[in-house]
Amino acid sequence: MNAWRLAQQLVRIDSSNPGAQEDTIERYIKLLVEQRVSSMPACLVKHISIKEIEVFPARRNLNVTIAGYGSAPNLVYICHMDTVTLGEGWSTDTPTLGATVRENRLYGRGACDMKGGLACALSALFSLMDAMEHTGTQPERGFSLICTVDEEANMRGVEAAIDAGWVGTDEWVLDTEPTDNQIQVAHKGRTWFELDIKGVTAHASQPWEGADAVAATAEAISHIRRSIEALPHHADWAPRPLPLAWFKADTNPTLSRMHAPRGSICDWYLRQPRRRRK
Ligand SMILES: [Zn+2]
Repeated sequence: MNAWRLAQQLVRIDSSNPGAQEDTIERYIKLLVEQRVSSMPACLVKHISIKEIEVFPARRNLNVTIAGYGSAPNLVYICHMDTVTLGEGWSTDTPTLGATVRENRLYGRGACDMKGGLACALSALFSLMDAMEHTGTQPERGFSLICTVDEEANMRGVEAAIDAGWVGTDEWVLDTEPTDNQIQVAHKGRTWFELDIKGVTAHASQPWEGADAVAATAEAISHIRRSIEALPHHADWAPRPLPLAWFKADTNPTLSRMHAPRGSICDWYLRQPRRRRK
């Protein structure tokens, strides 16, 4: 099956998260790999390992590794198998899981992010298996395909893959997420922290008795924002303001006339900066 057909097959499998999640698609990919491996001679099969980690019940990471005979670190493809929710508003001509092809474009949930890329990575694996059969030997550099769960939520899949030692700092990692057909060498990364700022309630007639958690949070946000923007910028990325994703102040309705909320929460993420050069 070529990458194009493979992408269609993967789109037809619901792996929405939250939703059907990754049980069926992981079984499908594993079966494809096992079928391919079963037709290879034993002298080559011994270089291939298939491993799984159950990250959550019925949600498994999959790792297919072909050992190399050289000492160089492996080339590792990492792909996530889940998609965002199926969502509303799909046209009847291009249904969510229909994998419809129109004018050489594939339509369906996950076609772009990232079942197209996952199909390409699987094709690379199968091409390497073809090359092994052709030459009768293992490759010089090892190769791994790691398929993960939970990318669209909390990234527990890739964390489990790292914890299991499936990938380390020496490997060459290629991620086939959509990047407008341009190779991207930098990523915004992720740091989550939680600030919990509590105010002190006071009667509206005595505001000086209170402490305003919203004002304190605003000051903290401004300070963090300035500090981050003062950091050195990556050569390939333009600096960009950091938007606040959401902000929630917790007020007590029975004290609605008090100007000082009891606490506030903000969720802040750093958007991918605008590309400076192509
Ligand atoms: Zn993705």
